[in-house]
Amino acid sequence: MSGVHGLSEAQFATLSEKAIAAKEAAYCPYSKFRVGCALLCDDGTWVTGANVENASYPVGICAERTALVKAITEGKMKFKAIGVATDIVPPASPCGMCRQFIREFAELDMPVIMFDNDGNHVTMTLEQLLPVSFGPGQLPT
Ligand SMILES: [Zn+2]
Repeated sequence: MSGVHGLSEAQFATLSEKAIAAKEAAYCPYSKFRVGCALLCDDGTWVTGANVENASYPVGICAERTALVKAITEGKMKFKAIGVATDIVPPASPCGMCRQFIREFAELDMPVIMFDNDGNHVTMTLEQLLPVSFGPGQLPT
């Protein structure tokens, strides 16, 4: 355990590999902008996703939400890390909608690790990406 962003070296390497590989599944005939996402679930399993576009552009869905929707509907509700990979340099960060979507299911200190096309990465916590956020705890019970 090296403590790479709270992950073991092996977990970090797998996160990188899976996020980058997930780009292959992207359906992006319009933007040609491939995005891959890998989630490390609390139980040690992995879920991946890619962006899926639509001829009606706003209907498309990002890789991060694809992965989260897959995970949540498989009963995986807690996550240790999320990795996002694109083909650009420097790394791209999740869009605002995805940041809020992630916020529903992740702790504020969860690492969001962004990989670029040159083997570099940037890590930020969810709270850094979405400060002063609104989450489930703000709703009256
Ligand atoms: Zn997004």
